[in-house]
Amino acid sequence: MTAYLDHKDLANETIPQERVTQIADGVHRTLDKVAAAAQSVGRDPAGVTLLAATKTRDVGEILAALNAGIRTIGENRPQEVQIKAEGVTRLAQAAGIDDLGFHLIGQLQSNKINKVIPWVDTIESVDSLSEATKIATRAVAHDRHLNVFLEVNESGEESKSGCDPERAYDEALAIAALDGVTLTGLMTIGAHVDDETTIRAGFTHLRELRDKLVASGGEALAQCRDLSMGMTSDMAYAVDEGSTVVRVGTGIFGERAFI
Ligand SMILES: *Cc1c(COP(=O)(O)O)cnc(C)c1O
Repeated sequence: MTAYLDHKDLANETIPQERVTQIADGVHRTLDKVAAAAQSVGRDPAGVTLLAATKTRDVGEILAALNAGIRTIGENRPQEVQIKAEGVTRLAQAAGIDDLGFHLIGQLQSNKINKVIPWVDTIESVDSLSEATKIATRAVAHDRHLNVFLEVNESGEESKSGCDPERAYDEALAIAALDGVTLTGLMTIGAHVDDETTIRAGFTHLRELRDKLVASGGEALAQCRDLSMGMTSDMAYAVDEGSTVVRVGTGIFGERAFI
């Protein structure tokens, strides 16, 4: 069991006005940073989606981010999806938001697939054909169609999940051929180091992999366009290297109180 779930009621829907303002400021500040990073390399800021990484945040905090302009959220844990998804979806609809993107960005064990399928439209953390096949089979059974990203462990750090970069091309080809899911992108978590060159190298490699997949000419591969890379600390490098989705938690909501 995850102890932090006992410390905070993640289904809570009402937060103080002061916190609402803080989160709105975080969203606007981060959007400005993303736009500046894009413009500095001649990219259109509209080509980069700011995904709010919402682990440990409650429904009220997530709503504040949506009201400030966020349209894509990413949860790490299936259990948090279960606790929050109904409230987030209901309140977003009540606020007139009908284009909410709901991603899973953390590991998904097979026995949790059915729990997230009704709620999420995209699973970014798929690291193998076998996992993608399980997701695809359940999606078909639920009459759902999901977008998936192949997560690649570009840094090779043992603490990180994701597919070995050496295998990623072949895995992606096989995943793209599945019914029930569409391979719409690739995801990576930047190297946990201070060295800019090392961090950038992982992002460059992911972009080259995406380009190679698209260039392979396969019809299904033409959809594999997104590059989910960049977090609070390394999003400027990621945007510079071609990121189309940056996943930001701390920069929007502040430091996490736990985990
Ligand atoms: C938490 C998390 C993020 C956001 O991290 P911050 O440093 O808070 O911006 C992005 N991606 C994944 C997979 C995460 O787990």
